[in-house]
Amino acid sequence: MLWIEGYSIMKKAPINKIIYFSNVDGPGNRTSIFFQGCSFHCHFCHNPETISLCQNCGRCVPQCPAKALRMEGRQVVWEEAKCVQCDTCIHVCQLFASPRVSWLTVEELLSRINRALPYIEGITTSGGDCTLYPDFLKELFSRMHQAGKTCLIDANGAYDFSKDSALLSVCDGIMLDVKAVLPAWHQWLIGQAPDPVLRNLDFLLAQHKLQEVRTVILPGQEEENKATVQYVAHRIQDACDYKIIRYRPFGVKEAYQKELGEMETAVEEAEAYVRLAQSLGASRAYMV
Ligand code: SF4
Ligand code: SF4
Repeated sequence: MLWIEGYSIMKKAPINKIIYFSNVDGPGNRTSIFFQGCSFHCHFCHNPETISLCQNCGRCVPQCPAKALRMEGRQVVWEEAKCVQCDTCIHVCQLFASPRVSWLTVEELLSRINRALPYIEGITTSGGDCTLYPDFLKELFSRMHQAGKTCLIDANGAYDFSKDSALLSVCDGIMLDVKAVLPAWHQWLIGQAPDPVLRNLDFLLAQHKLQEVRTVILPGQEEENKATVQYVAHRIQDACDYKIIRYRPFGVKEAYQKELGEMETAVEEAEAYVRLAQSLGASRAYMV
C-alpha cells in the first residue's frame, strides 16, 4: 500500500464523469471531475442522476440496449467500453443515481487525468457535491499542487469549511452556490435550511477563498430572486465573481419541470438581476 503524508491512497471515491478540458469551471483550461452523491436535493438540478449512490436494485440492467450493464452477485457492473451513452439507465433509475460510476483511488484518478496535465492550469472538483469526500480531495489536491496545478472546489455549501483548515490550505478557491436565502424558499427548493451555506459565504469571504458565487434565477420568482441577489451582493461586493445563471429546464427531472416551469429564464429578466447586483457593489456580477 502506498502512502502520501501518512495517508492511505487506497481510499476510493465515486467518480461520475471527467471532462478533461473545460473553460467554464474556473479560470483557464481545467479538468473538471464530477463526484457522485450530494447532500442536497435541488429541484432544478441539471445532473439529478448524480444526487444518490446506486443501490444496486438492478432495474436499469435489462433496459441497457448495449448490454453494458450486468449484475455480479448483488452489484451492478458497468462496462464503459460497451456503453453508448444513451442515458436510458439514468432515465429508468428512480433513485437519482447512475450505474455509470467508477470507484477510484486518488492514484487511479491521477492516472486518468495525467495526459491532460501539460495542457491545463488546474482541476475543478464538482458533482453531485465533491465535499462529501474531503479526505480524498486533500490527497488529490496535494498531488496536484506538487504538479504545479491549481485546485478549485465547486461546492453546494453544505460542508463546514471552517472546521477543515487542512482542506482549505490545499484548495485555491471555492465556487459556492447560494441558491436562496429565504428559509422557506430554500427548504422547498433544496430540502434543507440555508444556514450552512450562508455561514460558509461569510467564512470563505473572510478567508479570501471565494473564487465565485453562483445564483440560479428562476423565472417569475421575483421576491426570492431579489432577496438572494441583494443578500449576496451586499456581502461579496467586488471580492469575487458573481455568476447570475438563467434557469434552463434541460436535464431537470420532468416532475420538477412541472413545478418550476418549462420555460427558461428570459435574458432580460436575468440581466435585471445583474444590474441590481452591480448597483449594490457586486461589480463582478455577470450573466450566463
Ligand atoms: S442506477 Fe438506479 S436503477 Fe440502476 S441499479 Fe442503481 S439504483 Fe437501480
Ligand atoms: S448509457 Fe446506460 S443504458 Fe445507455 S448504453 Fe450506457 S450503460 Fe447502457
